[in-house]
Amino acid sequence: MDNTIMWGEIKSQLAHELEPDTFQEIFSSIDTIYEIKNNFIYLIVANEFIKRRVEMLYLKRMNRMLESYVKDKHEFRLITEAQVTEKIKSQSDYEESDDEYSSTQSNLIPGYTFDNFVIGNSNRLAYTSALKVADQPGIVANPLYIFGDVGLGKTHLMHAIGNYIIEGNIHSNVLYIKADQFVEDYVKHANRKKYTEFTNLYKDIDVLLVDDIQFLAKKEKSQEEFFKLFEKLYQQQKQIVISSDRKASDLRDIMTRLTSRFAWGVNVDINRPDLEHRIKILEKKLNAETSERDLIPKKVLEYIASVFDNNVRELEGALKRVLFYCTAFNYEFSIKNAEIALENLIKPKASSRDFMKEKITNVMSVTADYFKISVSDLVSKKRTRNYLYPRQIAMYLIKHLYDIPYKKIGEYFTNRDHSTVMHSVEKIYNDLHLDANIKVDVEKLSIKCGESD
Ligand code: ADP
Ligand code: MG
Repeated sequence: MDNTIMWGEIKSQLAHELEPDTFQEIFSSIDTIYEIKNNFIYLIVANEFIKRRVEMLYLKRMNRMLESYVKDKHEFRLITEAQVTEKIKSQSDYEESDDEYSSTQSNLIPGYTFDNFVIGNSNRLAYTSALKVADQPGIVANPLYIFGDVGLGKTHLMHAIGNYIIEGNIHSNVLYIKADQFVEDYVKHANRKKYTEFTNLYKDIDVLLVDDIQFLAKKEKSQEEFFKLFEKLYQQQKQIVISSDRKASDLRDIMTRLTSRFAWGVNVDINRPDLEHRIKILEKKLNAETSERDLIPKKVLEYIASVFDNNVRELEGALKRVLFYCTAFNYEFSIKNAEIALENLIKPKASSRDFMKEKITNVMSVTADYFKISVSDLVSKKRTRNYLYPRQIAMYLIKHLYDIPYKKIGEYFTNRDHSTVMHSVEKIYNDLHLDANIKVDVEKLSIKCGESD
């Protein structure tokens, strides 16, 4: 739909809903869309006063109306006539560099902001670093490397950085991209030998946000290409932000030439939020969902937070479910009803825990038996080869057969950390193809564990 028509329709909806005087005073003169950029639709308003009134009182409603007119998430923003004049003046010294891609497509999700990111011990450093970077892109921490497990807010923070920068300067060219998308784009262009076209996609970037860099693993050509881009931007002091599910030094199948550069700037991790933090997150999310404060009693939120301790995405999902269940059926928000609403989410969780435990202990005892050592030696920290090798094999089997998270596996081996387990698993995986004896051990043990295929 044509944008002017879309705005016309939203306007008439507003005319319908608002008092005629209010509508006349505020909205009747808003006719022009200044531009659509980075998922924001900028409307021109007469002055700062109207701008503030709309922002405070009507913007949320307008954005909700907008949802039914646009495919991707977009939001309205307001710009005053004075600001427009200023922009036009400064634009005459502004080079003609606004090509299609870089000027309109930032891939940013407007809803991920610093404002709605809840801070706690597990993410404070990541948050402050991100905010500093957003404040002074290219200066305080370049690159900024954020790592942590899934669902803990890395993507949210990256978008928050981008949104913040654009809010301060709509001409800043921010580009958010997932590393797998980068690879895909590269392969697509390389197949058609359109290398220049590919490089052009990343021309004129001021801020590059690359999510989930681990997906560059084993993609040598794309790494090479990304390396060039990194170098170019870095030299021009353009801000680069990278996220990953692991430390830069643990990015095994990415060239060290690249990963070592990630350590040049600032590296921060995000961890799991503690109970108190999880409750705060729920409260914030609830506020965003409904204007009715205290809709869900605190003790119910505490209950949800106590059950979902793994990551924020799950926590959010649980809250939405309880909200939906109790409002749809008009039930009271009680712990009992929350339990019922979440039954399907909780049960498999509990049973998957038992399942995991059972499988892990089974592999441990089968492996210890096979190598004629005790389970306590198997899981111990003793480093002689007759324990080390069985231990690595056991870790490998657990990962390979059941795909249990490294961190979880580590807990069963005298609390070894995520990266120790990962290295053991990768060592066996690599040696497997070189040493027939290892292959035999693995195959025999898989059968003994009841998992041959
Ligand atoms: P990751 O990229 O680390 O896997 P995401 O950024 O996608 O995680 O976060 C998953 C969900 O949890 C998102 O909806 C995000 O808004 C939310 N979330 C994560 N951390 C926070 C936080 N500290 N405050 C508010 N929401 C959060
Ligand atoms: Mg993410």
